[in-house]
Amino acid sequence: MDKRSVRDLELRGKKVLVRVDFNVPVRDGEVTDDTRIRRALPTIRHLLDQGARVALVSHLGRPKGEPDPRYSMDPVARRLEELLGEPVRKLDVAVGPEVERALEETEGGVVLLENSRFYPGETKNDPEFAAALAAPFDLYVNDAFGAAHRAHATTVGVAERLPAAAGFLLEEELDYLDGVLRSPERPFVAILGGAKVSDKLGVIERLLEVADRLLVGGAMCFTFLKAKGLGVGDSLVEDDYLGEARRLMEEAADRLVLPVDVVVAERMEEGAETRTVGVEEIPAGWMGLDIGPRTVELFRRHILEARTIFWNGPMGVFEIDAFARGTEGVARSVAESGATSVVGGGDSVAAVRKLGLEDRMSHISTGGGASLEYVEGRELPGVAVLPERGEV
Ligand code: ADP
Ligand code: MG
Repeated sequence: MDKRSVRDLELRGKKVLVRVDFNVPVRDGEVTDDTRIRRALPTIRHLLDQGARVALVSHLGRPKGEPDPRYSMDPVARRLEELLGEPVRKLDVAVGPEVERALEETEGGVVLLENSRFYPGETKNDPEFAAALAAPFDLYVNDAFGAAHRAHATTVGVAERLPAAAGFLLEEELDYLDGVLRSPERPFVAILGGAKVSDKLGVIERLLEVADRLLVGGAMCFTFLKAKGLGVGDSLVEDDYLGEARRLMEEAADRLVLPVDVVVAERMEEGAETRTVGVEEIPAGWMGLDIGPRTVELFRRHILEARTIFWNGPMGVFEIDAFARGTEGVARSVAESGATSVVGGGDSVAAVRKLGLEDRMSHISTGGGASLEYVEGRELPGVAVLPERGEV
């Protein structure tokens, strides 16, 4: 990565504001998945080891620009303290004299600011709010890859007002994605699934430029199958994109690999009667909810040949057991492949985690939307604003 890194900063005695991505699921006041907190620890520890005074800021959920106790950072503070093993001083504000005071008083631990989206200026990237955020600090570090595709006050406004650098997690995310996109070891196999084609059309387009194979499952395969002239019953199809799908198939020829069989049901629910059918024989009134076993085998052969893999989007409705085999099969093949594997997308990552295969992937992205926008070739505002290495 050519952005200035937290490694490059002189940190001793400096007051550092760190944008982290602590947008974690919370239920009944407990963090139910602390992955994002864990992934931010290396940067926080580095800052503390180097003698910086550290405050962390993040958004959590979607409060409406005002304080809302349902989205308080309190549960995050408790979990962070356990994981970090250092005191965490949680404030009820993100700006103002309390922040300054807390930084002065905190020795050894970290300050956690309140949810940045309790302020209307956050999502508007309001200059006054950004200036107030920046005021108590000497330096800014962005380690929130999951928020880097948003031009908000904590991701962009503050970075324009303080000497800024990328944290270790942000660096790692960009290095893996750059590696996949710019210099993949071949064969490079991309796997795409999930719910919507329209969301991911730019991603498909871009991946077809660099990948040797693009395996398509999930709901999006039915738009392609229909575009080929097959009957897809009641499967999820985006009719507006049939022309686009046809064009992509022509351009990609045999690099685009579609399912040969699917699991169908009349209803998308637990206990529904299911059948496995060839893609030419999806019955009217039934919908495709997973890739079938022959497709799992076909995909597996491609995956085991790969040296590089990028995967986004589950192969079926994996939340329901009867439609989880495809996603499970693909996850196991990726785990066995020995390839450099990058998995992005909230649901795909949840599926991998559910199968206990996290440690078998080279890199699990903490940013679903951000990773897709990056793959698409879009500039991430939170990254673009950071200075290049060597720049002053
Ligand atoms: P990610 O979060 O990994 O980017 P998406 O959000 O695009 O993935 O899609 C995930 C959703 O797609 C899951 O909730 C899953 O149930 C759904 N899905 C996958 N295959 C199908 C299908 N054949 N029909 C309907 N929904 C599907
Ligand atoms: Mg999703």
